[in-house]
Amino acid sequence: METLERDLKNMREYFKSGKTKEESWRESQLKGLRRFLMERQGDIFKALMQDLGKHQVESFRDEIGTLVKSLNLALKCLKDWMSSKKAQLPSIALLSSAQIVSEPLGLVLIISSWNLPFGLSLEPLIGAIAAGNTAVLKPSELSPTCSSLLASGLLTYLDNKAIKVIEGGPEESEKLLQQRWDKIFFTGSARVGRIVMSAAVKHLTPVTLELGGKCPAVLDSLSSSWDLEVAVKRIIVGKYGTCSGQARIAIDYVIVERSNCSKVVELMKMWIKKMFGDNPKHSKSIARIVNKQHLFRLKNLLTDKKVQKSVVCGGSVDEENLFVEPTILVNPPLDATIMTDEVFGPLLPIITVEKIEDSIEFISCRPKPLALYVFTKNQTLQKRMISETSSGSVVFNDAILQYAADSLPFGGVGESGFGMYHGKFSFDTFSHQKAIVRRSFFTDFWYRYPPWKPHKFQL
Ligand code: NAD
Repeated sequence: METLERDLKNMREYFKSGKTKEESWRESQLKGLRRFLMERQGDIFKALMQDLGKHQVESFRDEIGTLVKSLNLALKCLKDWMSSKKAQLPSIALLSSAQIVSEPLGLVLIISSWNLPFGLSLEPLIGAIAAGNTAVLKPSELSPTCSSLLASGLLTYLDNKAIKVIEGGPEESEKLLQQRWDKIFFTGSARVGRIVMSAAVKHLTPVTLELGGKCPAVLDSLSSSWDLEVAVKRIIVGKYGTCSGQARIAIDYVIVERSNCSKVVELMKMWIKKMFGDNPKHSKSIARIVNKQHLFRLKNLLTDKKVQKSVVCGGSVDEENLFVEPTILVNPPLDATIMTDEVFGPLLPIITVEKIEDSIEFISCRPKPLALYVFTKNQTLQKRMISETSSGSVVFNDAILQYAADSLPFGGVGESGFGMYHGKFSFDTFSHQKAIVRRSFFTDFWYRYPPWKPHKFQL
């Protein structure tokens, strides 16, 4: 604890020196991060394979590629993001000018999750560095190879007086939370999110909480067989092809019209086979479950007596190889844990409704999801989905795509969290927008000073 306190004190001193505010420092750190990703690409692939059994293509798509894209954008826009912005003043402030200046917050803490061990650690770190902060990163202990690569890698490529990686689990995390921070950026479960928020109260520390929840996909009865097949392929990838469903924006369950259900199930089975082979256990294109504890959690969801009957595809679990088969369930009871808790794995419940419009009520009477996916060409339904439901994001006719968009804010609402990042939003998340007003001495008016004299006000 003493070492930690000393280290943090040194980091605060370093921040005070003004070094991290320099544009050249921020640029050099962002470039260092980019070099780390490019030069250590092979080690990153190996670490992701070791911890999660993730295929290189998936690792590049969701982690290295996305991060390099974010770094390129930050490097390109850094000067503009840092520059002060002019603001308008009311006419009463004659001969005055106003600006908004983005200033770094100071010493920030980033606690991340294991399913995208590099993305969820480095994407916020890009924002923290671009905004000129010093930062401590605490990756998840559940992806230990990735966590140790981050600790050793960042040590080599970044300024260690300003950026540190502290490895460990809940115990280390709790020690970190006892310290004073200028911002805490947390990615993980709502349970730990609550712990983070109560720790932040002590010092009135601002927090961003990137949490999870159940992300629904609504599949309309598309009349064209091409459209339906494209939608099904995108749903399969948005579930099983995204860390085997262990992603907070992976599709949690699908809603379809009852009359369309069997057609959809048959198409899904066909595409699971085409993408992952006759025996998906031997496929290298589907990630493994992170550990035994999560595997047993998923197994329990399936072995629930009320749920077993609803399995129409897959359902096998291989404990030794940490593998859960891509599984489809039709209409599991809505009070079963698989429908009340986030699935976070390759089990896909399908819920049937009479009319696709009924999905609006189904979604809006449940906790607000991080993402909502709607596959439809019906413009009226699209409009109703936007205005009558609430979620972190809505994507029509695809899934996961929003994660790669720098121009869109990424974040939750309600129980899926609050605060946002990606692109310029990351920079803003780690900045304070300071209001600056400059007044001239030239003009002055008697009525702004006491003693107050009655006169006519006009608005
Ligand atoms: P988690 O909350 O268990 O752990 C997240 C982080 O908190 C880890 O670094 C962990 O070491 C730390 N932690 C664990 N217990 C703690 C405690 N008692 N005190 C302080 N810190 C503690 O979550 P997880 O298992 O890593 O991830 C799964 C959950 O995270 C899912 O609910 C998922 O939806 C959510 N998630 C959300 C996002 C997002 O971007 N919104 C991304 C990934 C995961």
